Amino acid sequence: MTRKRRDLSRRDFLRTGVAAGIGATAHAGVEAAQAQAVTAADINWDHEADVVIAGAGAAGLCASVSARDRRVSVIVVDENHDIGGHAMVSGGRIPLGGGTSFQRRYGIEDSAEQVFLDHTNHAYAEFRYSDRGLVRTWSDENVPTFEFLVENGVTFIEDPPLVVNGGSVPRLAIAQPYSDDLNETINRARRNVVSANIASRAEK
Ligand SMILES: Cc1cc2nc3c(=O)[nH]c(=O)nc-3n(C[C@H](O)[C@H](O)[C@H](O)COP(=O)(O)OP(=O)(O)OC[C@H]3O[C@@H](n4cnc5c(N)ncnc54)[C@H](O)[C@@H]3O)c2cc1C
Repeated sequence: MTRKRRDLSRRDFLRTGVAAGIGATAHAGVEAAQAQAVTAADINWDHEADVVIAGAGAAGLCASVSARDRRVSVIVVDENHDIGGHAMVSGGRIPLGGGTSFQRRYGIEDSAEQVFLDHTNHAYAEFRYSDRGLVRTWSDENVPTFEFLVENGVTFIEDPPLVVNGGSVPRLAIAQPYSDDLNETINRARRNVVSANIASRAEK
């Protein structure tokens, strides 16, 4: 069975959503409910931004920083009571290579091409069936991603990078932990982010 896929713009979504709502209520014979059908014009938008990001985990927070770097306004929403997602409890092990500043500091030569070859190596069971296109993009983004982390305040333990994932050269850097006490990590980071937010709002 094939399913017809149709891309909906927000405008279309609202229009067809409203139409479906009206259809359903008329079908149920509840005429008064028609009057309550919501149209786009009825919606109050309390906040507006160029970019709205769902999820304040590692991906969402990096995306929000990138968006701000491009001078657009951003709203990040999270269903949790705090930001950080899984990154707050992660080991901070960053296996990015390709010639990062961290690798260069330890005299390690690497390239995006070598990252690609290592992560599509048929002799390594985990990578044998890797999606080549995806790995290509990821390999090319290793260095920019690592330098993005450095530029945005991530510091790394000053130990030489390690070989991981069957790699041909050392790549693993380990982020400096905030604290070994998870409670302190979460709460101190939270306090700092909250005060940084207040400070950046006050500047505007
Ligand atoms: C114990 C542990 C150790 C790890 N160690 C490492 C490591 O050493 N190195 C490494 O590279 N990776 C590690 N990882 C994996 C890494 O932490 C995750 O891959 C990464 O944090 C995922 O980030 P994310 O933003 O994609 O997703 P998430 O962290 O899951 O963030 C998603 C966010 O979206 C929010 N959300 C979800 N649904 C909604 C919704 N409907 N509306 C609004 N908000 C929503 C969530 O509350 C959350 O804040 C580890 C993970 C764990 C759990």
